[in-house]
Amino acid sequence: MSPERESLDFDIVFIGAGPANLTAALHLQHLVSRHNAKGKTPVEPEIAVLEKGRYAGAHLLSGAILDPCVLEMFLPDFRERGCPVEAEVTKESVWFLSEKRKFPIPYLPEPFRNEGCYVVSLSRFGSWLSEMAEAEGLTILDNTAAVEPVIENGQVLGVITDDKGIDRQGNARPGAEPGMRLNAKAIVVGEGARGSIFRQLDHQFGLSENTHKQIYETGVKEVWKVPPGRIEAGDILHTFGYPLPSSIYGGGWLYAASDTEISLGFVTSVEPERPVVDPHYNLQLFKQHPLLQSFIKDGRLLEYGAKAITSGGYHAMPKPAGPGFLLTGETAGLVNMQRLKGLHLAMQSGIHAAETLFTSLLSDDFSTNALLSYRQRLEASAGHEEMYKARNYRQAFEQGLYKGLIQAGISLKIPGIALAEKAAPPKENRLLPGKKEYRNWLKQKEAFQPDDSLTFSKSADLYVSGTVHEEDQPCHLRIKKEHISDICTTKCTEAFGNPCQHFCPAGVYEIDHDADPILKLSPSNCLHCKTCEIADPFGIITWVPPEGGGGPCYRSS
Ligand code: SF4
Repeated sequence: MSPERESLDFDIVFIGAGPANLTAALHLQHLVSRHNAKGKTPVEPEIAVLEKGRYAGAHLLSGAILDPCVLEMFLPDFRERGCPVEAEVTKESVWFLSEKRKFPIPYLPEPFRNEGCYVVSLSRFGSWLSEMAEAEGLTILDNTAAVEPVIENGQVLGVITDDKGIDRQGNARPGAEPGMRLNAKAIVVGEGARGSIFRQLDHQFGLSENTHKQIYETGVKEVWKVPPGRIEAGDILHTFGYPLPSSIYGGGWLYAASDTEISLGFVTSVEPERPVVDPHYNLQLFKQHPLLQSFIKDGRLLEYGAKAITSGGYHAMPKPAGPGFLLTGETAGLVNMQRLKGLHLAMQSGIHAAETLFTSLLSDDFSTNALLSYRQRLEASAGHEEMYKARNYRQAFEQGLYKGLIQAGISLKIPGIALAEKAAPPKENRLLPGKKEYRNWLKQKEAFQPDDSLTFSKSADLYVSGTVHEEDQPCHLRIKKEHISDICTTKCTEAFGNPCQHFCPAGVYEIDHDADPILKLSPSNCLHCKTCEIADPFGIITWVPPEGGGGPCYRSS
């Protein structure tokens, strides 16, 4: 495709229409409107919000509990404005599960409680914010993926969007259009976990230097319609234990949005050092537990999805600002794994991003120094203090469930205390070829037969994710041919048993040792969860955004 691109000028371009960036865009618009209403020299910024999904909310997946602390400040009349909070949390419990039994945790310490919080559908919440933003005159460019930051002389000057209409071989189809160059005084990157623009900025500006290595989980989720009388709106539960061994971090949840609609999911740690995991399989086993069956048996599956969760916490937070850019929400590492929440932190980062950009607009100063005031604002915020208090919570579980629980208990008394090394590397991987645990796991997984009632195959689940891509486009999972013949065929098989065929929650990677090449990809099934790039033990997979509009189509998750 010709590099002759249409060029459009904006003041601010937001990359990603999630809660962080939509809060930022809306708050900025409010600040500008209030300023102009006072009769001062008006500012009229050109603002665009890019969304790679078919609509804002299409790629938002979360078993979300919203702490409304920031929303109440930002939009005190959020209920009157029709905010889609599904139910206030009324009852909560935490359980340790063995394969057949359940053990309630009798006392829930304060950080684990959810009084005053709401069960929300993140997809609906994102759509609501986006509708408000459009009603207030902001431009939401959906079906538009940001593929590359424009960087000149060490300064970010904008972003390039995706080319449309390129075929598998890289040739232009009839009607093809090159991506646009969107010039901006600042871009705001809120791509969620492991974004591709963030990866390029990190590489260029060393945003993660001097931080601990970022770690991730993969959350897979289903939404169910269940018979009445099983649960009440606002009931939530969390679990740990089965089906994971104590060496792997993770756990389950179930949230009742109404008396008959629930979301449930399972989170599994995914790391290149421990890549042999199957988050989808774990969810299916989780649902077979009697506790879960008591809610969903004879119900109906409505939706499925997956996403990576940024979980390194305070010590792994990258620098949130640089020359010409800010990072918001999960891209800035703002997830509190102790509270299993990031939505309010994302919104708080959006508020501070908006304040920073507003100051820059008034002074026409978008210098690095001016944008770095965002960092100071974040550091002075309640969200930052919350992240700091939970700073060693997740890392303690790298030493296994039991040490993690001891650490979690002690850190409730002395917030942030570290019994374990910060971000210590995993000490063992139970699931490696040649080990008995691996053979047993593989045997059980291969013997597992979904019943299409309670449990489902990846392809059956995928069907209800709404995932669609243009089939005839370049593969967005970039793996060099020489790596397939060298690493996939030999090194990865021997060392890890080709874990891509397990960890992808959409079954995009298939290995056939009798075929050449042995790796077959189905990129059009991709859920955009980024697990493959994270868990790939040889680092040969690069996830890049496919043509805008592709991917899942979440509506109620
Ligand atoms: Fe997730 Fe990668 Fe599979 Fe896509 S291909 S669903 S990003 S693991």
